[in-house]
Amino acid sequence: MSHVFPRHSRSSPPVATRGEGVYLYDASGKQYLDGSGGAAVSCLGHGDPDVTAAIKAQADTLAFAHTGFLSSEPAEALADRLIAHAPAGIDRVYLVSGGSEAVEAAMKLARQYVIEIGQPQRTKFIARKQSYHGNTLGALGTGGNMWRREPFDPVMVSASHISPCYEYRLRKDGESAVEYGLRAANELEAEILRLGPDNVIGFLAEPVVGATSGAVPAVEGYFKRIREICDQFGVLLILDEVMCGIGRTGTFFACEQDGISPDIVTIAKGLGGGYQPIGAMLCTATIYDAIAQGSGFFQHGHTYLGHPIACAAANAVVTKLTDGGMTARAAQMGEVLQERLLAEFGQHPHVGDIRGRGMFRGVELVEDRDSKAVFDPARGVAGKLKKAAFENGLICYPMSGTIDGRQGDHVLLAPPFIISEAQIDELVGKLSKSIAQVI
Ligand code: PMP
Repeated sequence: MSHVFPRHSRSSPPVATRGEGVYLYDASGKQYLDGSGGAAVSCLGHGDPDVTAAIKAQADTLAFAHTGFLSSEPAEALADRLIAHAPAGIDRVYLVSGGSEAVEAAMKLARQYVIEIGQPQRTKFIARKQSYHGNTLGALGTGGNMWRREPFDPVMVSASHISPCYEYRLRKDGESAVEYGLRAANELEAEILRLGPDNVIGFLAEPVVGATSGAVPAVEGYFKRIREICDQFGVLLILDEVMCGIGRTGTFFACEQDGISPDIVTIAKGLGGGYQPIGAMLCTATIYDAIAQGSGFFQHGHTYLGHPIACAAANAVVTKLTDGGMTARAAQMGEVLQERLLAEFGQHPHVGDIRGRGMFRGVELVEDRDSKAVFDPARGVAGKLKKAAFENGLICYPMSGTIDGRQGDHVLLAPPFIISEAQIDELVGKLSKSIAQVI
């Protein structure tokens, strides 16, 4: 009997024994195509010899030094590398061990910043419905995924939520994409005014929404208007790029494609590429300086901040993504993936939308293509599809989402950037077979 505490107590999953390229293998020898990169983590695939060599070399040299006393060479190098590719104005890197930790750090930094600048009455965060920012109580309280929040609601610090920018579902007939984007963004202004403009700390959003919606980018102009509104009211713009950052959408930071820079941005998942648990929170010089010149101390911290082996792995991953051209490959192969998805599902009666950027794609499943009617949640389409795909040797990420009470099912695809055209065909073929078995 296994003593591991599994996610679902009624079924222990097969035991993974090996990873190679885009494939994972279990103890029975069964091969799985890693079609979601384990939730947008494995950007370089499995068994990359450069990353494992960097980990070994660092473990042999220096495994750990507590950041309360010492920095380390890999942490310094990683911060320099990230800043060299960061959005304009971003100047400092706070290294943590994962996505939720990065979001917690962002929220606490934002709160401390408003205190440092003499605006302690700012206590509220605004985020979006149908969002996920992590599973710790602060990050969960910011997220707008009601199913995940429900049991913990009474013990959370809650944000308020505006609508997501979700063109497929929320753009009205007769409204252009740009008009819709402005309407969606203006909900932020209305919410800031409702809460009192002097009471809001920050607005938190994913540039391309991952887990809750299936790779939904904002329409053109949406984030530019969001940036304007934040600036007008002194509200910090915090972008969560835990899932969509680090090359996944075909640019190193996803927000580059929206033409804006945040005040704070979080990254994780692809940063360690699955080789080490690592995340980061990056902020502007303005925010850093307010603290440096004020109390001089960010009141936060975890034991494993800037772990040298995790930083060494991340340095190797980021080098491959930037100098090694893997981010450009994500852009290029992402187009191939989109093309093949359109060819297979473009006219499918139960596929309503195929979307995303780079190696971050979503397929939305519907009962009826014309009316966009969703499946009866009782049918459990997403859960059944996950199981069928797994049996067919494809790991992908089907989910149900909720917008204003309407339930929709989608599949998130986020394969490693090294995937070949033939492997994309294999992925799409296995997904198609699995959908046919379930619907
Ligand atoms: N933010 C986003 C956008 C995420 O997708 C996730 C994880 N799915 C998190 C935060 C939390 O990251 P982690 O699971 O590494 O704590």
